Amino acid sequence: MAPTALHATILQATTRNMIFRKCATCGSKVLGIAQNHDIGAAGVLYYCQECDKDAEAYKANYELNMTVSVSNGERLQHVVAYDNVVGVLLGCTAEKLGELLLDKPTLLDEIEEKLIGMKCHFVARQDKKKGKGKKNSSEKITLEAIIPADPLYQPIFVEEET
Ligand SMILES: [Zn+2]
Repeated sequence: MAPTALHATILQATTRNMIFRKCATCGSKVLGIAQNHDIGAAGVLYYCQECDKDAEAYKANYELNMTVSVSNGERLQHVVAYDNVVGVLLGCTAEKLGELLLDKPTLLDEIEEKLIGMKCHFVARQDKKKGKGKKNSSEKITLEAIIPADPLYQPIFVEEET
């Protein structure tokens, strides 16, 4: 499981589905079934199919799917990044972003706009059992870190001082 580094440009970022929630009891994905601003918890009622009940406690998580261009566009690679990796890049946890979205639903589009075209160093986890054969470019790899190439990069969200 030696990590590899990719120098790549983000071509596509699917921000629309980047936040998902997991049941705190069983850890499976929960479904948003109703929007209601009175019930706190990001205003949405969640249902866990595994537990077969409304999820009272759950955790927001990131799952950001991207398509990146490696080596000056010679190769396209599908990548996915999860919680901490995305949180560090954005400067915002999934939980917090979920809250911000209630007031500003266009935020996901803004994030997408900022990500596309960004040059980054990606640290990827390499699946050993795939061997040294030809890499299938449709294969998705999981990122362990995203380091923007721009040394002046600022996270998209900067914690507001109050
Ligand atoms: Zn559950």
